[in-house]
Formats: sequence, C-alpha cells, structure tokens
Amino acid sequence: MARDLISIIVPCYNEQEVLPLFYEETVKWIDQIDADFEFVLVDDGSKDNTILVMRELAAKDSRVMYYSFSRNFGKEAGIYAGLTHARGDYCVIMDADLQDPPSLLPEMYNAVKNEGYDSVATCRETRKGEPPIRSFFARMFYKIINNISDADIKDGARDYRMMCRAMVDAIVGMGEYNRFSKGIFGWVGYKTKWLPYENIERAAGQTKWSFWKLFKYSLDGIINFSSAPLNISSWAGIVFCIVAFAATVFFFARRLIFGDPVDGWASTACLITFIGGVQLFCVGVLGQYISRIYLESKGRPKFIVRETNRKEDEET
Ligand code: UDP
Ligand code: MG
Repeated sequence: MARDLISIIVPCYNEQEVLPLFYEETVKWIDQIDADFEFVLVDDGSKDNTILVMRELAAKDSRVMYYSFSRNFGKEAGIYAGLTHARGDYCVIMDADLQDPPSLLPEMYNAVKNEGYDSVATCRETRKGEPPIRSFFARMFYKIINNISDADIKDGARDYRMMCRAMVDAIVGMGEYNRFSKGIFGWVGYKTKWLPYENIERAAGQTKWSFWKLFKYSLDGIINFSSAPLNISSWAGIVFCIVAFAATVFFFARRLIFGDPVDGWASTACLITFIGGVQLFCVGVLGQYISRIYLESKGRPKFIVRETNRKEDEET
C-alpha cells in the first residue's frame, strides 16, 4: 500500500526566532512515523525575517513548501490558505511556537489511521499559568457559545489537530470570509478523538494575542455561529412593549384616582435615555450581522499570496 502523505500546516506571524526550533523538533518526531510529510508554512505578512527562515528551510529540505502573504491577514486566513494548498491524505495544523508538542504526532496519526477516527484534536488539560481574569472570561465564552450555537466547541480546545482528507475538503468548502476555525471544526462534525495535554509555554518570541484581540475574537465566534443576539434583541423589544403598556395602565389609573400632580419628570428622563440606549444597542447588534453580510457579499479573497516556492501555485 502506498504511504500516506501528511501535511503539516504552520501559520507564522513574526516567528523568525522560533521557526527553526520548531522545524528541528518536529523533524525529530516525524522521522519516526511511517508516512511521507510535507510542511506547508504560511507567512502571514510577518514584519521580521520569517520569510528568510522559510526560504532557508525550503532550500535544505524539499518537503518544505511556503506561502507568503502580501500582508497580515490573521491566523484564520493562514489556516485556510494552508488547508487549501495542502496535498496530504491527512493534514495537521500546528502553531510555530512549539506550544503544540510534535511528540503527539505519532499518537495522532495512529488514531486516524488505525482507530477509525476522522480527526484527532487536542485540548489543554488546565488553564494553569494563565491570568485568572483571562481564564474566567474564556470559560464564560465557552459556556455561552455552546448554549446558543449548534457548533460544538470544547473549552480549552486548541487549533492543533489532525484531520482526514474528507474533513479538510469539508472545511475548505466552507468558504466564508469571517472564519472562526474552532467553530468550523465543530460544525462540520466527523468523529473526533480528544487528546488532553498540559499547557506549555511558548518556546521563543511573543504571543500575538492581547486581551482585547481575544475579546473581539470571541465576539466573532458568537456572531458567526449563532443568531442568538438577534433573538435576544427581539425579545427585549417585546418585553419593553409589555412594560410600557403596564406602565401606561398604571399611570392612567393613578391619574384617575389621585388627580394630576406634576412630578416624575426625572424618572421619565431616565426611562427615555434607558430605552434609547437599548434601542441603539439592538441596532448595533443588527449592524454587526449586516456588516458581516456586507463583507461576505463582496466575495473578497481570504488571503493573497505574494511568494511561494511551489511552482504550480505561483501567482501569474
Ligand atoms: N499567527 C498568525 N497570524 C497572526 C497571529 C498569529 O499566523 O496574525 C500565528 C502565530 O505565528 C502562531 C499561531 O498563530 O504560530 C499562534 O499564535 P500565538 O502563539 O501568538 O497565540 P497563543 O498561542 O498565545 O494563543
Ligand atoms: Mg502560542
């Protein structure tokens, strides 16, 4: 039987320090696996010399393919580009910073090859070493999103996962512009085995995620995979109508019984500003969805490749 080809997809943004370490460490592990490999390195518009490192690696190892974007398109675009260009029977997505231990690769391959799984995903065992506030918000996010969307998203799930060709094709087939991979993986389904492992510190370089970026990313996840915020706004509208109706009846009755003392303008002013606020908020929620429809309808490319060493894919 022909040997399987496994594509290792690595989105890289400013990873010049850690990429050579990643390559060395990973090669050690894949040499022990009875399969062929290709690296699909995606340079996500790095501002440092990541591209030079990639060229060097490609020069000394013919299994290394690289695609360099014309600017920073974000990790999601990097993953998508990697999956589109990968040719493997199996694809595995890994971070460049060695937080996704290559030592799991043999076990992952065994599970998809011999245990009948379509995909092997990894999740962190604990949130140890993470700031408590960040853990708190992360937990809350997973609780909310699993309640309001039909994508099954596991708390602590990482993007490190190996998938069979059918699953990769399904993911590439989801051509949405606003991509939230964690949701997409869960949404396409397939039989997935979960491997928990201890959280590992970055080997070198710096994390690209600030708290604010993570917050925006989690909102993306919610808006892309659920219409619950829209339903909540409609329900809020109905509740406010009921309250307004009850208040009208109450004030009308009070007027009939006690006459018309002119007071209560302060509470009226409060009510008006409050309701105005709620209305603006709901319009804002609506706007979030509309802006996404707008972006999707433009059908823009999700990434632009400026340079690659794979001849067939070179831009013309
Ligand atoms: N990354 C990317 N584009 C970006 C930001 C990050 O390709 O705009 C890559 C980065 O190079 C790394 C992976 O995504 O390989 C994870 O990033 P990071 O380690 O900063 O995230 P963390 O592990 O802290 O969640
Ligand atoms: Mg990392």
